[in-house]
Amino acid sequence: MGVVIDQNKCIGCGSCMRICPGNLIRTNAEGKAYLKKERDCWSCTSCMKECPVKAIALVLSPGMGGRGAKFVISKKEKKICWTAYRDQEVIREIITDPEESNKY
Ligand code: SF4
Ligand code: SF4
Repeated sequence: MGVVIDQNKCIGCGSCMRICPGNLIRTNAEGKAYLKKERDCWSCTSCMKECPVKAIALVLSPGMGGRGAKFVISKKEKKICWTAYRDQEVIREIITDPEESNKY
C-alpha cells in the first residue's frame, strides 16, 4: 500500500506537504504535488485528509477491494468519508466521526 497523487486534480495548495510527518511531498515546476520517495510513505493518510480535491488516493492491496482498488478521503461537515473505488466505480463508503472515535 502507499499513496498516489493525481496531478490532474492537484491544485497546488501545499496542504499535503505541510502535514506529511515524513516530509515526503514536493511540488514540481507546475506547482503540482508529487511523492519524493514512494517507498518511505507509511500510509498514515494525513495528506489524504488534508487534500481539498481528493487528489491523493491510498492504493489498496488486491485482497482489499480487488486489483486497482483505491481509497480517497473527503470531509462531510465534521465527519470523514472514506470511499473505496475501482475503475471509477464506488465499492464501499464508510463515514467516521472523529469526535466519537476520540472517546476511546
Ligand atoms: S500517507 Fe502519510 S507518510 Fe505517506 S505521503 Fe501522506 S502524509 Fe506522508
Ligand atoms: S493537498 Fe491535494 S491539492 Fe493540495 S497540493 Fe496536495 S495533492 Fe495538491
